[in-house]
Amino acid sequence: MAPQYEPVESPDATTVFPYHDLEPPTTADVYRAREVVADRLPETPLVRSEWLSAELDAEVYLKREDTLPTGAFKVRGGVTLVADLNPAFREPGLIAASTGNHGGSVAYAAREFDLPATVCVPEDANPGKVRAMERFDAQVVRHGATFDDAREHAERLAAEDGYRYVHSANEPDLVAGVGTAGLEVVDALPDVDVVFCPVGGGSSAAGYCLTVGAVADAEVVGVQSAAAPAMYRAWAEGTLEPHDRMETVAEGLATSVPFALTTRLLRERLDDFRLVDDEAMLSAVRRLYEAEQVLMEVACAASVAALLEAGDEVAGRTVVLPVSGRNLEAEKLRSILDG
Ligand SMILES: *Cc1c(COP(=O)(O)O)cnc(C)c1O
Repeated sequence: MAPQYEPVESPDATTVFPYHDLEPPTTADVYRAREVVADRLPETPLVRSEWLSAELDAEVYLKREDTLPTGAFKVRGGVTLVADLNPAFREPGLIAASTGNHGGSVAYAAREFDLPATVCVPEDANPGKVRAMERFDAQVVRHGATFDDAREHAERLAAEDGYRYVHSANEPDLVAGVGTAGLEVVDALPDVDVVFCPVGGGSSAAGYCLTVGAVADAEVVGVQSAAAPAMYRAWAEGTLEPHDRMETVAEGLATSVPFALTTRLLRERLDDFRLVDDEAMLSAVRRLYEAEQVLMEVACAASVAALLEAGDEVAGRTVVLPVSGRNLEAEKLRSILDG
């Protein structure tokens, strides 16, 4: 019979199991993760944006995480977590809930290490992201209208059927793995002054805090959609209560529940946190595409929108923006370009 796992008491509104360690990773953990990531994934380019540099009178660089095989940064965390997985979990394998890129990461990593993966997605999930998970051999389960519905379903299946639940944020290995992008930035651009980073569950911003923040003494500014400000409020007020507003069109940022591990790390280390409107994000996707033909998904554009709003504040500074993902449906791109 498959094992069953009883959830343990969770500090946030998500389910955690006995195998979830809620202690945030350290910078040393990110250096250790780099050995796994360097074996499995290419280093991503850091490319000067001529348009944004001229526009802001600054040195602006794009960290091209869109060039990873899944088209998003999260796979760094996926391979790090699975490389370190307790072999007891090889059967029945992994389960995750995702609007797309976390599921793609888990599916990719599972295939790399030859174990099964199941991903629960909301019924209206981005079809391109779902196809990618299936291409990586994951079993996709559609459930509910929102990420949180899909998440609760995954948590139930994890308890009943003994899957290893790969939480989207309460996983030190995921955060350490994601942080390897920041170590690459430190190596390539040691005089980086500030990183503007989109925040959904907060793993990416946490990773930059542990790297460019801790090692290069740069500022890390988190940016979230004003239409889904759960992590923003958690950071500002220290509450892990779910937020009642979750209406963003950027599915990569669509969570109403703040997560314990990343909230703790961001409250300790994040320098600033801003909100931008969805309209500004859509406009940033269009403007970057028109200016430089770099295609980013809407979640990613939070940081570009915040940078454009920062204006003179960043003049003369060296700024890095992660192009966190490129998984934008053609139809959505068309409507964005049509304005
Ligand atoms: C997940 C995701 C984000 C947000 O990252 P978190 O680590 O969840 O804060 C931003 N952009 C893209 C493309 C994503 O997939």
